[in-house]
Amino acid sequence: MNEIAQPKTSIILFGATGDLAKRKLYPSIYSLFLSGKLSKNFVVIGAARREWSDEELRENVKKSIVESKYSSDKVDEFCQHFYYLPFDVTNTESYSQLKDKLNQLELAYGIPGNRIYYMAMAPQFFGTIAIQLKREGVTQSEGWNRLVIEKPFGHDLPSAQKLNNEIREAFSEDQIYRIDHYLGKEMVQNIEVIRFANAIFEPLWNNRHISNIQITSSEVLGVEERGGYYETSGALRDMVQNHLLQMVLLLSMDPPIRLATNEVRSEKIKVLRAIRAISSEEMENYFVRGQYRAGELSGLQVPGYREEKNVEKKSSTETFVAGKLMIDNHRWAGVPFYVRTGKRMSVKSTKIVVQFKDLPLNVYTQKSRDRKIHPNLLVIHIQPDEGITLILNGKKVGLLGETVPVDLEFKHSSIDGVNTPEAYERLIYDCMLGDATNFAHWDEVNLSWALIDPISQAWAESTQEIDTYAAGTMGPEASDLLLEKDGFKWWSLKDL
Ligand code: NAD
Repeated sequence: MNEIAQPKTSIILFGATGDLAKRKLYPSIYSLFLSGKLSKNFVVIGAARREWSDEELRENVKKSIVESKYSSDKVDEFCQHFYYLPFDVTNTESYSQLKDKLNQLELAYGIPGNRIYYMAMAPQFFGTIAIQLKREGVTQSEGWNRLVIEKPFGHDLPSAQKLNNEIREAFSEDQIYRIDHYLGKEMVQNIEVIRFANAIFEPLWNNRHISNIQITSSEVLGVEERGGYYETSGALRDMVQNHLLQMVLLLSMDPPIRLATNEVRSEKIKVLRAIRAISSEEMENYFVRGQYRAGELSGLQVPGYREEKNVEKKSSTETFVAGKLMIDNHRWAGVPFYVRTGKRMSVKSTKIVVQFKDLPLNVYTQKSRDRKIHPNLLVIHIQPDEGITLILNGKKVGLLGETVPVDLEFKHSSIDGVNTPEAYERLIYDCMLGDATNFAHWDEVNLSWALIDPISQAWAESTQEIDTYAAGTMGPEASDLLLEKDGFKWWSLKDL
């Protein structure tokens, strides 16, 4: 049996009292602990503004684990590895305290100066923290030093470049781990396996056999408490620039020569460079936006976006985006990649639908025009279900020789079925191991903003009122028209 690697590590969590830490990071680190991926030689230093003690942090960590699916009797033992430091990001004194605390704890826990700095606080602090860590000598340890940085990585290309310049003052590119938690999801990682480990798919994976690919990430929730943040972001920046584009890249890149970080990244970057840039004049043929108005969801009336807390009464922030991306290379010329994401839609679901081309001559449609056949679809279910469905045509039982779509399905629910690890759990462990394959390289971030900026600019300059859609639907009509113009339709997620 292979031994599990247990890198001896200190994790410094900036924003330890925040929502992300509580909901995702503590349960994920605990799960690593339970599965034997953390040795006894680890500490977590929580740094945040509040004047907490070690005990208060531990109580909170314990609470978040007990409320998660990972609760077990090892929580107290785990929490003993947590220490708290009241921290003011702009005060140099905080950094020298952090340095002393790290030196002292690493000595006590036998950690050879391996440090992960996890930025789980407001993005305006990322640059300052990185620079100060270096200036105050915190990063001058014996071991490795790595920076994990949460989204958003800038809000457009200039701000992303500025942030990157700041963090690069203190960390080299190979020390920077830009988190895109979609890349830690089980089925997103499975895209590569489906494509590169199955002889039946790769030969078909091109414009000769695929007619279009659809990626949807829909939510039923509205903006909840995060109206203030969402007003500065919108669906395009919040979801498309990072998560949906990353899925497009995994689906469209050429097979890497090896599954090594640099090889995968270089294939992703190559395909990113081939995505057609969209000018503002052509924008509406490629991207549409919408905002939810009041509507009904599961029998309940829900308010429109403009009625939400901390949202402008005349806000034109998009809560829905649908877009068409064309990849102008040999493999994909002519195949649209449609992406769609939104809040307050009718289902919560993330799915990829790969639609194959119809046969050049179909004897079943030839016989009678009524005898339609269903296109072959490969559906990759990302969440809440995980798995794949392949939709084929079979013979309908009976004497008429009709066809009927049949599903080959391998699927389970990620909520109540097999306990797949949290995306964060995987990514934190990857970072401990120094594997940056599932993190975004600066070149990817740079190119993706260059692609997204003209879209947000065109919308910001538009004098047209934003389209609306009723809460509980799958977005505005313009989204359906986007595909209809090309002779396609969105496949209904409920039926797949
Ligand atoms: P939050 O507002 O809940 O927490 C912010 C944390 O930062 C708190 O611990 C607070 O004490 C600390 N902080 C704020 N100002 C400080 C200062 N001047 N000095 C020291 N500490 C300070 O935020 P969050 O929702 O946990 O998000 C944190 C980051 O993670 C953001 O970049 C966010 O975009 C990103 N993110 C969050 C989620 C999520 O689900 N919450 C998901 C993806 C990405």
